[in-house]
Amino acid sequence: MAQNIHPENDEKYIGLTVNEGISSPPTVNPYLHKTRKKRKQYTSTEFVEGILKGDRTILSQAVTLVESANYEHQLIAQEVIEKCLPHSGKSIRVGITGVPGAGKSTSIDTFGMHLIGSGKKLAVLAIDPSSERSKGSILGDKTRMEQLAIQENAFIRPSPSAGSLGGVARKTRETIILCEAAGFDTVFVETVGVGQSETAVHSMVDFFMLLQVPGTGDELQGIKRGIMEMADGIVINKADGNNIDKAKLAQGQFRNALHLFPATDSGWKPQVLTYSGYYGTGIAEIWEMVYQYIDFTKENGYFDFKRNEQSKYWMYESINEQLRESFYRNPEIQKMLTEKEHKVLNAEISSFVAAKQMLDIYFKGLTTKK
Ligand code: GDP
Repeated sequence: MAQNIHPENDEKYIGLTVNEGISSPPTVNPYLHKTRKKRKQYTSTEFVEGILKGDRTILSQAVTLVESANYEHQLIAQEVIEKCLPHSGKSIRVGITGVPGAGKSTSIDTFGMHLIGSGKKLAVLAIDPSSERSKGSILGDKTRMEQLAIQENAFIRPSPSAGSLGGVARKTRETIILCEAAGFDTVFVETVGVGQSETAVHSMVDFFMLLQVPGTGDELQGIKRGIMEMADGIVINKADGNNIDKAKLAQGQFRNALHLFPATDSGWKPQVLTYSGYYGTGIAEIWEMVYQYIDFTKENGYFDFKRNEQSKYWMYESINEQLRESFYRNPEIQKMLTEKEHKVLNAEISSFVAAKQMLDIYFKGLTTKK
């Protein structure tokens, strides 16, 4: 009996003895253990193996680590990224931008179905700088892409929501690496056409696509020149029904405007096409244009040149971001930040002096730590 195997139950022992317990009663809810099951924490090697096999659940969990602010998670994430790097880089990365309502989700759904239909595997990522304020990202949401969301060969991930634009963009760039290692040969990075985020997206894609809608005939006015200059292709959506003439008019205007721009670094002449995301017309032509661009730039060496430049850019961005984070996370700095801000606002010290005082303390802290 179990009772006898306890040394306390030896006849010579004079302390308390151990009684035989009763077996635990059967659980009332036999399915409870299933719902309570803790998610398995994979090692970095298990993550990499899963990703290389194309396991989307593991890929998804790895992306969650990439996005996590937790230090331990970041350590594993960085190891996973490093091991995935040799298996990355083989996809075609396409940036897609347009103002809200331009038809990004409808178009990505249609573009995606077109690509999957031709045997591609597509990852859809997003950079949404507004998500920090709105506490939730709208871009890249699966419900916006109804057809794609249920495809085996599509992986849709909303924008990482925490941190500065630089931080959000870095996470998306790292996610691209994981998706490529998982076998996705086409990557979309979506963003809203309202400002800085285009530059971030432009710095991580091969082809940058600007989505436009035909309107009153003065489409050009609303667009920042910088965004048009970044575009390798402008595609005018909603060229259907009563809109067809307007779309053609807008196409002409954009073509004329592009003529006035200086030649691009790639030597490629940005094209202007019309299509309907809703009815799926003109889609094949858009992808012919993208592939033409890829062939053209691979041939003249610009494709590799741009990717190298992007890597260099991200090296500096990572340094900047981590320095900034380290500074603001420093407890000494956190203690004095509000007080210094106050003094600057009350004109007691200049902003430069305040900054210098804090930086001096920060750097002194670093040298004394050594
Ligand atoms: P997003 O905000 O850029 O993602 O835009 P959505 O894809 O949500 O589209 C905004 C609106 O435009 C929706 O009501 C769509 O139904 C409509 N829409 C999108 N693509 C087309 C199109 O090709 N033709 C027409 N007529 N409407 C479209």
